[in-house]
Amino acid sequence: MSSSSNPPLFDQDGDPIDPALHRLVATHPVLFRGRLPAVASYVPAGWYPLVDELCRSIEAELGPQGCEKIEVRQIKEKFAGLRFYLVERSLADVKSLPVEDAMDRVHALIRTACEQSERTCQKCGAPCVVHDVGGYLAALCDTHLRG
Ligand SMILES: [Zn+2]
Repeated sequence: MSSSSNPPLFDQDGDPIDPALHRLVATHPVLFRGRLPAVASYVPAGWYPLVDELCRSIEAELGPQGCEKIEVRQIKEKFAGLRFYLVERSLADVKSLPVEDAMDRVHALIRTACEQSERTCQKCGAPCVVHDVGGYLAALCDTHLRG
């Protein structure tokens, strides 16, 4: 059986069709600079508030100039946990700026959000634990585990 139960990511023109992702990009113009992540991404509906809050925290931590030094590469779910990948565009530049320590805090924010996602139903956001659903790990509340 397939290990993936995510909905399709692209329409027939190759454009992403995840509306939550588009909303996230529109809500955080500083962080995303109006662009979708370079690698196909997907934000589970139940994790939207978590990811939204993470983006807000990163923007607050780095400010507009710091945000220009990073790029959100990919957001997705894997093994029932949030994955949030950043590219630091120029490490030399980052180290020459006061954002160096801020990047450590950003990585800590990402770790915390990823840990939290494993306790958050990916469908509805209710508190939950990770279940093994026929060999596929999923963070689902009791309601969504049943259906
Ligand atoms: Zn649920």
